[in-house]
Amino acid sequence: MEFKESRVLVTGGTRGIGRAIVEAFAGQGARVAFTYRSSVAVAEELKEAIGGLAFQCDAADFESAERAVAKVVEAWGGVDILVNNAGINRDNLLMRMSESDWDAVISANLKSVFNYSKAVYRTMMRQRYGRIINISSIIGLTGNPGQANYAASKAGIIGISKSLAKELAARGVTVNVVAPGYVETDMTGGLNAKVKEKMLSTIPVRRTAVSEEIAAPVLFLASKEAAYITGQVLSVDGGLAM
Ligand code: NDP
Repeated sequence: MEFKESRVLVTGGTRGIGRAIVEAFAGQGARVAFTYRSSVAVAEELKEAIGGLAFQCDAADFESAERAVAKVVEAWGGVDILVNNAGINRDNLLMRMSESDWDAVISANLKSVFNYSKAVYRTMMRQRYGRIINISSIIGLTGNPGQANYAASKAGIIGISKSLAKELAARGVTVNVVAPGYVETDMTGGLNAKVKEKMLSTIPVRRTAVSEEIAAPVLFLASKEAAYITGQVLSVDGGLAM
């Protein structure tokens, strides 16, 4: 797999899975831009370390997505790879879930995919080349009590990805989904030990994943070698959602 000089944009690149994706592409010689919401100091440090670009913008905001993509195109002349990774959770049983928690999760997780995919659409069509990889979750496939908003957003990502895959296939642009299982990041760090133990007992490989294990299949789907794979959902979950 060759990414030298590839132009990559990753949403939510400062921490967790997004950061591992940013570092993996940069480690392969790609030019990497990333967005983030609030971690300014971390973002500056990472930007320096990879010699890339960083944009502070809420992935849920349509106009800032257009601006970020325009800056990448201005700097590097195009965008070859988009990874829609930014995401949040606001878990609660539906009877206790507020409207604002529903809206926040749908906007950050699903509308963000619309925003950034639309922002790169014309550029990738013109290039007759592109790779879009969207980070869903096995929860989008299975559902989970207390995660109706999160599950809906992650299932929605699969729907938009398959539609875009069909729209863009003839233009050399592939669109695929990676659906991680349980990954050790800040997002899962808050789970209590009992919940974690119960979850572990259901994972066939009997361990959680590290972010680098999600980055690796993202790089594969983003490679030139994966040109004949589009509209697919790749679960990376230690066998959890078989
Ligand atoms: P983390 O909470 O560890 O990191 C989230 C990253 O996304 C941070 O860089 C954060 O920026 C950024 N971010 C969050 N919201 C926004 C926003 N509105 N706009 C821009 N950037 C934003 O999450 P994970 O690494 O665990 O998760 C990454 C993706 O993987 C998410 O889509 C998540 O749903 C998915 N996933 C995670 C799993 C897990 O077990 N961890 C399992 C399945 C899927 P900042 O630092 O500025 O806050």
